Amino acid sequence: MGRWSGIENCVPLSFSSVAIGAFARRALRLARDELVEATRDGANMLAPRLCLVCNRGAEQGLFCAEHALGIGPDPPRCGRCDGPLPGSFPDGERCATCRREPRGPSRTLALGDYRDSPSLRECVLALKHGGRRDLADPLAALLALRWQKGLAHLTGDSKGVWRPLAPREIFVPVPLHPFRRLERGYDQAQLLARALADHLGLHAAWALKRTSDSLPQGSPGCASRAANVRGLFRVRWRQHARVRGAHVWLVDDVVTSGATLEECARALRRAGAKAVDAIVLAHAGGRGSGGVADAER
Ligand SMILES: [Zn+2]
Ligand SMILES: [Zn+2]
Repeated sequence: MGRWSGIENCVPLSFSSVAIGAFARRALRLARDELVEATRDGANMLAPRLCLVCNRGAEQGLFCAEHALGIGPDPPRCGRCDGPLPGSFPDGERCATCRREPRGPSRTLALGDYRDSPSLRECVLALKHGGRRDLADPLAALLALRWQKGLAHLTGDSKGVWRPLAPREIFVPVPLHPFRRLERGYDQAQLLARALADHLGLHAAWALKRTSDSLPQGSPGCASRAANVRGLFRVRWRQHARVRGAHVWLVDDVVTSGATLEECARALRRAGAKAVDAIVLAHAGGRGSGGVADAER
């Protein structure tokens, strides 16, 4: 917990007229979540764990042997955005979009594809929409393995020895829209970032904030993903010193078009980050794709 800093109330002042009611509901929801978790922990001690996908017995972790989650998508993948490449391409080559417009994080690491992996899909949906905040820690453990595996690739070091790009590495969650956070009672990217940092013995910081309360992604009225997030993020002024000169790893659950990560990366670089990469649970399409409706924030 000591590694986590920069947590501030993200409820905008414009909500003040409903703030008391909203906080009361949030407090009740948090208490209910704690009770559900405690009950689930107790139940798990008495009954065998069930696979999230098929409900059969999960010998260990979250899944049965058939639905065990891997720690990286099948190659070949783009070395920059992690999108799928045609089978004839070597793994790590850049896709046509990244060659044409090298924007956003320098590298994105994902556990797998949202569309192709039922296990990953169930995890993402349960974490985002099923109130299963308890999944954040085991998923972060897999992300930590993905991170370590990806670093050897990133540095091109055949021995797998990671050479840091900057004196400090920090994990920064993509901030959830305040409305979604109130509705859900937690921010899944924040939970993942904190657990990931703990697994790796590094630091996490809530360094980014939204500059406006525009509609959440996927809401009716969103013209386009890129237009909707343009200029939407900035580095919190108290966090500038931490970000300056650091290697920042953006953390999120799903990357769809990459527009959100791109805007976050732009804000972090403007604040002096030396390098910006990203690590996410699932990849839901190449840059510029339409995204996946049920994985929306
Ligand atoms: Zn299963
Ligand atoms: Zn690419």
